[in-house]
Amino acid sequence: MEAKFTQIQETAYAKLNISLDVADKRPDGYHDMIMVMQTISLCDDVTIRLNNSGKVRAKTNFSFIPGDERNLAVKATLAYLAAIGAEGQGMTITIEKKIPVGAGMAGGSTDAAAVLRALNRMYDFPLSASALEELSASVGSDVPFCVRGGTVLATGRGEKLESLADMPDCIYVICKPEFSISTPELFRKLDQMSLRCHPDTAGILDAINQDNLEQICRRMYNVFEDVDDRRLRVVKEIKGIMLDHGALGAMMTGTGSAVFAIFRKGMETDALVSKLRAGYGFCETAENVSRLIS
Ligand code: ATP
Repeated sequence: MEAKFTQIQETAYAKLNISLDVADKRPDGYHDMIMVMQTISLCDDVTIRLNNSGKVRAKTNFSFIPGDERNLAVKATLAYLAAIGAEGQGMTITIEKKIPVGAGMAGGSTDAAAVLRALNRMYDFPLSASALEELSASVGSDVPFCVRGGTVLATGRGEKLESLADMPDCIYVICKPEFSISTPELFRKLDQMSLRCHPDTAGILDAINQDNLEQICRRMYNVFEDVDDRRLRVVKEIKGIMLDHGALGAMMTGTGSAVFAIFRKGMETDALVSKLRAGYGFCETAENVSRLIS
């Protein structure tokens, strides 16, 4: 198959969990998840250039991120080329990362998703949106959501998607402490305990339908915050600072370590951002991004 362009750019948007629930372990060892996910404007910039090397390689502004098949963007490219019968096409994928790594914001998955949307454009849309989402599930559980974007209820391992009404307009203040938390490690710790509280997912879905930001914020909840882990004390500390500054709600996203607060548009957040940057390193604001493909 012939490419229509030799170079293409795409934005790779981060995600936040508005809620995160984990059901019992399945016989195959995976957990069923029930998550309300939101695409936000914090993003990486991805550029793909064709070449004659016969190899697919990624380059990022972080030296510790692999450039070979261990990079989800390369894995996605190889899956896409195989699906359209264009194996052996050489490419360089340049990723300017602005999404913090190991933060629970689907950084690697969204780079993979951006590559899939870009390649489908580059080859003049040989795959339908649903075929692209299906292919993306083989790259990683969060990749189908990142391909589609918007406000979504994700179940199964995170790959079963139901698009929701748009999240009400708001500002997110996102803070990532210096440490990262490993996802498998947090799942192991979760397996050793019995969860006493679960988010009211149905209530959140109702509140989204009613465009009611306060009711969403009152219910936002992540079961991973209840795991017994010393580092989660820092998460609680950051949440406390956010709520003291007038946030409507605050929560850890995914398995952390990033924490975010929701503010109504127009509310003052500069003092909070300066304080969190000084105390913990990374802090940025972001807005909602609507569905990317349909
Ligand atoms: P999730 O929200 O899906 O749990 P995360 O935000 O916690 O993910 P990532 O930023 O995706 O975590 O990175 C986790 C690991 O994935 C890192 O150790 C990194 O080396 C690897 N990785 C592979 N490809 C990428 C990529 N394109 N960008 C960032 N990390 C990548």
